Amino acid sequence: MMDIDLKNENAQSFSEKLNIADKKELSAIIQNFFVEAPREKQDTLMNFANELREKYYERKVYFRALLEFSNYCKNDCYYCGLQRSNRKVNRYRLSAEEILACCKEGYSLGFRTFVLQSGEDSYYTDALLCRLVAQIKESYPDCAVTLSVGERSYSSYQQLYAAGADRYLLRHETADEVHYRKLHPSELSLQKRQECLYNLKEIGFQVGAGFMVDSPFQTYETLAADLIFLRELQPHMIGIGPFIPHADTRFAGYYKPTSHRTLVMLSLVRSMLPKVLLPATTALGSVDEKGREKGLRVGANVVMPNLSPVAHRLDYSLYDNKVSMGWEAAEYLPDLSRHLKTIGFIPDFSRGDYVDLQKKDETL
Ligand code: SAH
Repeated sequence: MMDIDLKNENAQSFSEKLNIADKKELSAIIQNFFVEAPREKQDTLMNFANELREKYYERKVYFRALLEFSNYCKNDCYYCGLQRSNRKVNRYRLSAEEILACCKEGYSLGFRTFVLQSGEDSYYTDALLCRLVAQIKESYPDCAVTLSVGERSYSSYQQLYAAGADRYLLRHETADEVHYRKLHPSELSLQKRQECLYNLKEIGFQVGAGFMVDSPFQTYETLAADLIFLRELQPHMIGIGPFIPHADTRFAGYYKPTSHRTLVMLSLVRSMLPKVLLPATTALGSVDEKGREKGLRVGANVVMPNLSPVAHRLDYSLYDNKVSMGWEAAEYLPDLSRHLKTIGFIPDFSRGDYVDLQKKDETL
């Protein structure tokens, strides 16, 4: 078994170890931090993660305005409240005009990245989405547009990129074949999901992968497989949040989520891939009042307040008790920004690209 005594490590050497560890070694490390490691060791891990984040991003926190523009979904992922077989969802979709109005509000609040997320909704054809992306880029050329609209064809991704989309979020959900099967119906496949991620990267998007922590049937080994997949893909962004059961899914009441394991995975991922953009997710803020703050303290450097029209916020219910008020709401950005300063972070209102892709004059 690999020696994981952090007393003999510094941030850099630990990072290197994570990059060459095999699956068994990674499983042991994860298990150790989930259940056994004493407080000082947990603190050392968090300090390493922090140090590595600061090496590339200082204490900066980037903001993304999240626009959940449709909750229609043709997929039936077992864990997700928006799955097509959930009849209780009050389905909505926003028109291009409504989306543009949200962007206008977001821009004046100070956001320079818009994240357009939805279920897999065929209503938004390539033509429609491309027009929308082009309109946003034309109105706000200094902004980045991130899409998170699921699996599409190579040509669709190419067109969206050509229309001006800069980034794409598509969590891989789990990198273990058997685990993937337990979370998804047979028409979805891990291979296809991973292929989409590689396609997006090849086309030129800044790409985000990611997974839930404590999803049903997850093990130390499946989490180790997640780390290995991320290490191979080398994404620019990684979304990690706790799995939170949704009452209208088969996993209702499965597990009462906490923030601890997500915080461990955030620090391990930051340590392994120090340059990655890592959000302190809404899900993390939903299971722990201080979750977002704690996430930032263990290496996260992005927050994504909700810019969806207030009338629809509760309908985009991926899981129960999702927070969409206070600092999770785009309207409170000035408040959030002030608070971040008081706890020692630097609110950064630039586009916040991946460090190697940042233009030097961007923050001037
Ligand atoms: N349809 C898009 C966007 C999915 S929603 C896509 O396929 O990429 C964004 C993320 O929410 C999902 O990738 C999933 O990891 C997360 N999610 C879904 N259900 C969840 C739950 N019950 N608890 C926590 N996160 C959940």
